[in-house]
Amino acid sequence: MLRFEDILGHEQIKEYFKSALERHQVSHAYILTGEAGMGRKSLANAFAMALQCEKGGAEPCGVCHSCRQFLSGNHPDVIYVRHEKAGSIGVDDVREQIVNDAGIRPYSSPYKIYIVDQAELLTPQAQNALLKTIEEPPEYVVIFLLTTNSDAFLPTILSRCTVLKLKPLYDQVIRGYLIEHNKASAHQADVCTAFARGNLGKAIALSSSEEFMRLQEIVLNLMKRVMEMPVSEMQASLREMKDAGLNIRDCLDFMQLWFRDILMFKATKDTSLFIFKDEYKYIREIADHSSFDGIEKILEAIDKARVRLDANVNFELAMELMLLTMKENIS
Ligand SMILES: [Zn+2]
Repeated sequence: MLRFEDILGHEQIKEYFKSALERHQVSHAYILTGEAGMGRKSLANAFAMALQCEKGGAEPCGVCHSCRQFLSGNHPDVIYVRHEKAGSIGVDDVREQIVNDAGIRPYSSPYKIYIVDQAELLTPQAQNALLKTIEEPPEYVVIFLLTTNSDAFLPTILSRCTVLKLKPLYDQVIRGYLIEHNKASAHQADVCTAFARGNLGKAIALSSSEEFMRLQEIVLNLMKRVMEMPVSEMQASLREMKDAGLNIRDCLDFMQLWFRDILMFKATKDTSLFIFKDEYKYIREIADHSSFDGIEKILEAIDKARVRLDANVNFELAMELMLLTMKENIS
């Protein structure tokens, strides 16, 4: 089923859609903007399904002919816009699938709904072509532009659409979901929640990723032994991870979370705020052998390593500089 009630978080947007349904005040064009995995598609789909539902309530009924067509993926009046090229949605895609099609009345429903995923890929020409339909739409047309980046739109498009921005979910909502629905352990849920930064889709993907769990194990092992391990050995271990295809950015994120725990311990002694609660012993030990200032420097060094990798600085060099800063500030 796909009801607003089944979508976690996003209360404001859900209320907004439900009230639009109840009052029959529907815009002709919506932009849903937010990170991949946050729920843009679920929200647009639930709204589209409810708009077409024969019962006409604030939630789709799930049993009428229209709802069943929608759920089977074959609703004739809900069109998912496809594009020929992988990296862009061109003017021909928009003309063929929206502009020319919008003139044809809906087949069996009150609305004709167009859903454009990855709408940031619309070229300026494609946006201009779309503009005419958005400016003077047939009464039954509703267009959804789903995007990770609303800055990609022309001001003329933005000003004519209702822009709805998805907000990150609260950590406890994500953590609870992972434990209840994804059978994550408390520790796994803490780590994945910290990594996902309010993005439920990302948290779910991480909690079921074996690669992510392996990466976590290796990085924690390194971080626990940071005091005794020589830089060259740590560097070799990072190189091995890279060669094994593990994500080095995630690895740096892990290190940052680790040192944030250490900083947290130094500041509050409150272990309940830890992400790596099970590693209390190691965190306390490193905290005892470092200063506030030193940990701040390490966190900055990890940021710098990330910037260096983005700038294609030699991998060994970027890692070495970061590891040296760790060593210098823990003794
Ligand atoms: Zn229905």
